[in-house]
Parts: sequence; structure tokens; C-alpha cells
Amino acid sequence: MRILVTGGAGFIGSAVVRHLIRHTGHAVLNLDRLTYAGNLDSVACVADHPRYQFVQADICDAAAVRACLARFDPDIILHLAAESHVDRSIDGPAAFMQTNFQGTYTLLEAARHHWAALAPARQARFRFHQVSTDEVFGDLGDSGGLFRETTAYAPSSPYAASKAGADHLVRAWQRTYGLPTLITHCSNNYGPYHFPEKLIPHMILNALHGRPLPVYGQGDQVRDWLYVEDHARALVHVATHAPAGETYTIGGHNEQRNLQVVQQICALLEELAPERPAGVARYADLIRFVADRPGHDRRYAIDAGKIGRELGWRPQENFESGLRKTVAWYLAQRPWWGRVLSGDYRLGRLGVAS
Ligand code: NAD
Repeated sequence: MRILVTGGAGFIGSAVVRHLIRHTGHAVLNLDRLTYAGNLDSVACVADHPRYQFVQADICDAAAVRACLARFDPDIILHLAAESHVDRSIDGPAAFMQTNFQGTYTLLEAARHHWAALAPARQARFRFHQVSTDEVFGDLGDSGGLFRETTAYAPSSPYAASKAGADHLVRAWQRTYGLPTLITHCSNNYGPYHFPEKLIPHMILNALHGRPLPVYGQGDQVRDWLYVEDHARALVHVATHAPAGETYTIGGHNEQRNLQVVQQICALLEELAPERPAGVARYADLIRFVADRPGHDRRYAIDAGKIGRELGWRPQENFESGLRKTVAWYLAQRPWWGRVLSGDYRLGRLGVAS
């Protein structure tokens, strides 16, 4: 099939692109605006493959999106392009409303016209797959519950609200126009090629530089972590196998408190990078508690039973194995994150071994 991936130069999108090229026979068009979060180094290892194409475009640009659909003629749109960082959404929500809400609307309209013009057999297998987040469900607090496909929306942050709005558009386009859509809600991802503003890479790189490891509040927020390559497999499987109109929650069954995550990173660095920066006796000595994020949700956790029962997907990594792989990847891939930290990644592409 022909799969259009939006946001394919981002963290999860690049994992999807690498998975599609390496492990399937599908053709891929990566449509990405290349914001600060887009990094072509992350797809450099597949960039020359004959089944891969890249176009730099904004999902809010209706003419550019329509032209891409007309030229590439996709069977599936896997929609990951988004502004994705909660702290940035608190400081400046406008870009989140624009890309996450308006951009999804623009893409849906282009998809609807493209789909309406397809032959019946292709119409039947066409999918618009909205990659959403568990954050649209809000805070589980101390309830002990789990998010599942029927959980009501209650977003807390501007980021989560913009994704929730986009999900509502997707459902409306399915119900009103019959567009065959899918929605998946995933928990926190981690793994290789993660932009260093996010918790796990931020902590790894700060520790390697002997800088403080800032932990919000008491570090007792609970997240359910999923290795990014497990998520990429899930997304491709859902997009190519799920019945239209379905929703799946995806998680790794790996609930961890933020402080535990940071402590485990420190322990792995003691083992894998024993030559600490000057003046650092133990990596864990760098941990500092800082003022909590406003509106910070206490706990997210996913019941991933439906995708397991109905589609046979299960994560292959547990948190211990996935975090070890992740720390080892950052230790081995200094050119990748060196170019992110210096800003050079925005200048052109680098060949990075995977
Ligand atoms: P990311 O920030 O790493 O990547 C986003 C990508 O989208 C970047 O390559 C960026 O250049 C591109 N982009 C941004 N605005 C664009 C626009 N207007 N037009 C075209 N491209 C644009 O994000 P990520 O962590 O890879 O997340 C991907 C998707 O998965 C998002 O929709 C996010 O909401 C969702 N999600 C993420 C997580 C997580 O833990 N990271 C968990 C669940 C769901």
C-alpha cells in the first residue's frame, strides 16, 4: 500500500517510517514541516530507499496538502504531525491550536475529497489514522483506574485539549461523511531519536554533562511507558488491519513514577558510562526537585487489552530492557544528539547508524 505519514521526521513518526521501510513492502511519503522537533537525521538510514519520499510541507497549508495527496495517491494517512510538548503548550498555546486542531481539519478535508474520488475497492481499504494521546483523558489521580477506549475526555493541558479537539473532528468526519477513520491513544513513548527536551533524553544528556536533573514536584507523577518501536509496530498494524471507525488504547503495562525513571537512568549510567563528569561522585547526586508544572496530571495508565485481543499486538520490550537499550543508544549516538544540541540538525542531513 501507499502510506502517507505526517510528522515522519519527529520522534514517533521517524520510528514508523523506519519500520515501514525496513519491515514492510509499503511505499512511504513523509510529509513534515520540519519544525524544531523535525529532524531528517532520524530518517537518514532509509532516506535513499526507493520506496521512501520526503516532502517539506505544513499540514495547515490546504493547497500543499491537496497537491501531496494528488501526487502520492495514498491508501492510508497515518497522522502524527503535531506540536507535542506540554510545557511549550503552557508557554505558547497558539501553535498547538493551529497545528493540532486546524492542521487536522485541513488534512481531514483533503483526505475526504481524495477518498471520495477513489474506486470502491480502494475506498473500502482507505484509512485516516489519527495518532492521539492518553493525555486527552486527563488525570487518573489516585483512583487506581485505567484509561480504555470508552473513557470520557477530560484534557488538562492546552496540548491535551488541542489533541482532544482534533479527535472530535476525526469522529465527526467519520460519522458525517463516512470517512474511514481510526484513532489510537498511546501512553508516554521513549527510545532512540527522542528530542532532548523530553524527560528521558533530557535526563540522560544532563547527567552526561554533569548538569542538574530537574524533577517536577516530588517526582511522584505516574506514567505508563511504551518503547517507541513497539508503538510504531502497533500503529502500522492498526492502520493496515483494523476495521474502520475503531479506537484503541495502546500502552506498555509499565507504570513508573517520574523519580523512579530518573533513578533508573542514573543506575544504568553508573554501569554503562562509569567515567562520570568531573566533580560528580554519583549521577543520582545531580537530582534536584523543582516547582511542579501547572495543572500537572498525577497518573496516566492504559488498559491495552482490546488491541491485544482483537489485533494480537503486544509490546516486546519491558521498561527495564527498553530503558537499557535507550541509554545505550544515546551513549553510542553522540553525533545525532550533538547535532540536536548545537542546532546543526536543522542545516542538513547526517548519516546515522540505527
Ligand atoms: P514530535 O514533536 O517528536 O514530532 C512532531 C513532528 O511533526 C515533527 O517532525 C514536526 O516537524 C512535525 N510537525 C509539527 N507541526 C507540523 C505541521 N504544521 N505540519 C507538518 N509537520 C509538522 O512528536 P512525537 O513525540 O513524535 O509525537 C507524534 C504524535 O504522537 C503526536 O501527534 C503526539 O500527539 C502523539 N503522541 C505522542 C506521545 C509521546 O510520548 N511522544 C504519546 C502519545 C501520542
